[in-house]
Amino acid sequence: MDIACWCHLERDFKGSDEETRQRMDQAMEGGINILLPFIHSRGNARYRTRLKYESVQDTFSRVLALAKERGIEVHPVVLPISAMGISDQEKVRRSYFPGKPGTKPPGRQMCASWKETRDTGVLIVSDIMENYDVDGIHLDGVRYHDTGESLEHPCQCEACRQKYMELLGMDTVSPEDLKVPGILHKFIQFREDNIHEMVLRIRDLVKPKGIKLSMASRAHYLGTPLPLSPALLERYFGTSRKEEQDWGKFSSMVEGQDWVAWAHEGLMDYICPMNYSTDSDFHLMRLKEQLALVKSSAPIYDGIGRKSSVGEISPSEMVKQAEDAMKAGAAGIAIFHFNILGNDDFRELAAFKRANS
Ligand SMILES: [Zn+2]
Repeated sequence: MDIACWCHLERDFKGSDEETRQRMDQAMEGGINILLPFIHSRGNARYRTRLKYESVQDTFSRVLALAKERGIEVHPVVLPISAMGISDQEKVRRSYFPGKPGTKPPGRQMCASWKETRDTGVLIVSDIMENYDVDGIHLDGVRYHDTGESLEHPCQCEACRQKYMELLGMDTVSPEDLKVPGILHKFIQFREDNIHEMVLRIRDLVKPKGIKLSMASRAHYLGTPLPLSPALLERYFGTSRKEEQDWGKFSSMVEGQDWVAWAHEGLMDYICPMNYSTDSDFHLMRLKEQLALVKSSAPIYDGIGRKSSVGEISPSEMVKQAEDAMKAGAAGIAIFHFNILGNDDFRELAAFKRANS
């Protein structure tokens, strides 16, 4: 079985060569055999690149070499809905725009309706593959980024409005329009088609090279994207009572991330649903739902949040969730995230791996 682990190059493996070797040894001895490092953000790259990031600092090469020496596979995390090397004006033009047509977009998140923006995702993947001998590519944030807002504030950027006109004969779409099933169906479908189109192009790049393709997926396929803590429920919904949530507005489907369909299409070598939760029953409920949807179409590596935005769990609670996952039928686990792992974690993980190999 595989134990994957997300790590952040700006936080992890940044000390001396000796310290970095020690951390890498701990990972290996703890049974971690796949590292999923975040190697870029919107403006900064931590790998050698020909793309125009605001800053470039190569800390990835050393991590890759040290991991390979220890037989640990490295599948860098690619955030495909990005935009680099374009003017601020163009960034604003292509950003998600929740306001009224004619007013000024905030220039916050890139809207995935722009082919040019999706092209950047494909470019990032080809750039990494040209520069590094990686074992896999791991996609994160492969979706529209207007999380939780898309139905209440449907995007009004030029690309979206062009699509509304083409598909619906409407210059714009309001939240009321999206209560009409036919309109909602078309709205979700074009968003899914756009993300799917990019994933297919990435798959075509990666597959001939024998490189694995995987992804971090939303935990709730039909409803909320992440199992939410009471604090986050409060923030998003103004309530801590789960039954009062409006699950639909956070759906992975609304974000264009139909990862269950991608599994059945054979696009992913493994999928890591981000089942982060401090409640092990809730964690297991989510995972079982996902396994029932995916069936045997793709290996599921259960995403366990040792420390995440929903809270922190102990090393033994992490391993309990991992054991639950294996019993339920997961093919492996993926831990979020490396920085929090200490001696107790590595010892417990090593014992877990021995018992499940
Ligand atoms: Zn848009």
